[in-house]
Amino acid sequence: MKKHNYSAGPCILPQEVFEKSAQAILNFNNSGLSILEISHRSKDFVAVMDEARTLVIELLGLEGKGYQALFLAGGASLEFIMAPYNLMKEGGKSAYLDSGTWASAAIKEAKLFGDTVVVASSKEENYNHIPKGYTVPSDADYFHCTSNNTIFGTQMKEFPSLDMPIVCDMSSDIFSRELDFSKFDLIYAGAQKNMGPAGTTLVVVKEEILGKNGRIIPSMLDYTKHIKAESMYNTPPVFPVYASLLTLQWLKNLGGVAAIEKINNAKAALLYGEIDRNPLFKGAAAVEDRSTMNATFLLNDTAHAETFDAMWKAAGISGLPGHRSVGGYRASMYNALPLESVQVLVDVMKELEKNI
Ligand code: PMP
Repeated sequence: MKKHNYSAGPCILPQEVFEKSAQAILNFNNSGLSILEISHRSKDFVAVMDEARTLVIELLGLEGKGYQALFLAGGASLEFIMAPYNLMKEGGKSAYLDSGTWASAAIKEAKLFGDTVVVASSKEENYNHIPKGYTVPSDADYFHCTSNNTIFGTQMKEFPSLDMPIVCDMSSDIFSRELDFSKFDLIYAGAQKNMGPAGTTLVVVKEEILGKNGRIIPSMLDYTKHIKAESMYNTPPVFPVYASLLTLQWLKNLGGVAAIEKINNAKAALLYGEIDRNPLFKGAAAVEDRSTMNATFLLNDTAHAETFDAMWKAAGISGLPGHRSVGGYRASMYNALPLESVQVLVDVMKELEKNI
């Protein structure tokens, strides 16, 4: 039986993506060959890469606005390095918002490239909220933020307007909600939440911000080189790109980001409604910053943990324990998680209340 998969990533993908990718491993496009054994330079795969790149720009509403989409390797973690390498000047400055573990990992890497100003941090409160009311130094080469903090279950609802490039790590909420994506100059996201399997990273970059920092950038870390090579500078992660394309097609057929946002809001409202109503539970993140993707919550009395854990496991739920730095529970409700799965969890929470 298919589990209700609340894993934080890699995570649930649409069932049709699993089925179509399985089919492509056996026989890709009726070619008599597996997607795993064809050349990345073959006509069929070049078409996959082109469509995936075009669909990203279309789904984000960025057509004709000077953006390029790339499917790279190395995870979002490599973008922590590529962003400063491509954008921070020699002797320049960058500004970062420290809203969680991943933001802090990005800051650590940026410091290798130059003066890195942390404009605000919620670390002292174990990142239970998004810092607000900060000032970004006007002489920074760029500002970096993390739209959704996967571990702590917080999500930025507003983004600053600045006279400098804005870089955003959208690993755990890309394609989940409508935003004016043209406010951002560089967006990156590991595929393994809302887009596909682990192994590729989506980068969406406004071309005009590149090539201006005067650094000599190693080829594999140079966005310009990847753009010139149409995201095939070297052998790309062929299968993760293909599975990502299938997910993007699924999203488009569903009605795009606007349609999935409504479903995501309904799922989040259902679960947070129960967390707030049920006297046995409490939310871990500040209410105004709650993530629609990752809901973090705790039992008021951990003595009930054994019973609750046994109950949700028996209901076919998987991947609910929270990250070790927060404890409790984390329900990751990515795009492909059906509302019915959230209902199953809510029913278990209600059942626990009845039993106690
Ligand atoms: N940023 C965020 C917001 C993440 O959630 C993660 C991984 N969970 C990363 C970066 C790191 O991604 P990767 O493992 O692809 O390097």
